[in-house]
Amino acid sequence: MKARFGTAGIPSEYKGKTSGVAAFVASLGLDAFEYEAVRGVRISDEEAKTLGEQARKHGVKLSMHAPYYVNLGSSDPKIWQESLQRVRQALHATEVAGGEVVVVHPGYYGSSPNEAIANVIKAISSLQGQGHVKLGLETMGRLSQIGSLEEVADFCTSFPSFVIPVIDWAHLEARSLGHMRSKEDVERVLDYLDRRLGDREMTELHCHFSKMEFSSRGELRHHNLDEEGFYPDFSVVAEVFVKRGHPSPTFIAETSNTAKDALTMKETFSRLLDATRTQ
Ligand SMILES: [Zn+2]
Repeated sequence: MKARFGTAGIPSEYKGKTSGVAAFVASLGLDAFEYEAVRGVRISDEEAKTLGEQARKHGVKLSMHAPYYVNLGSSDPKIWQESLQRVRQALHATEVAGGEVVVVHPGYYGSSPNEAIANVIKAISSLQGQGHVKLGLETMGRLSQIGSLEEVADFCTSFPSFVIPVIDWAHLEARSLGHMRSKEDVERVLDYLDRRLGDREMTELHCHFSKMEFSSRGELRHHNLDEEGFYPDFSVVAEVFVKRGHPSPTFIAETSNTAKDALTMKETFSRLLDATRTQ
């Protein structure tokens, strides 16, 4: 059982070139890095290639977060095409880097949820078959966003060799309006994924983690792991993964203190794993 832990974006402590960030996160004891192209894919092919080489050299799993300004569910042809183009750029840069997954927010329901879902499916069809990189569709935190656990599983089963689930535990807390707190809550998610996807995509389950503040409409904001009164609690999530012997999850800390929180998660996970081994 090998869990990986990493940062969403370049940690604030690191001041060098982007391509050097893999060595930096590895020096902290982390082994995953999610490049944040959330405001546009601006990395050159050369930079992407070096970043990828450095990541492999330092044993760091590389992923990329596609731009936020993406709505694959849009019925406006211009928005839909531009969204497709942004995801395509992210897939290309990640392919060049030799990374494994591009994380994408599917989009919004708008006034016609069925049409929006059909548009996402059309988008995935036109994106697939261009390389090795997987399209990671994320569970989303606002009720207006496409990306319930069930929808993500549906997309995965429709495109088994291309789409993988990205489980954002904080978003699930928001979307369920506070039902991602107990071990049973976590079990339910993993049982559901097992049932729908088997062990195919589950082997290296890609996860985002932070604590979450929400309203009746879902996500409001992400919080750091040491902020009291917000959930989910990483030790609860980790305990379930350890108990199930989940083969190799990746946890990306999506907080404002990403390196510190990724290390906290790693320590928590190791402690729980050691405890079961010595029993
Ligand atoms: Zn995201």
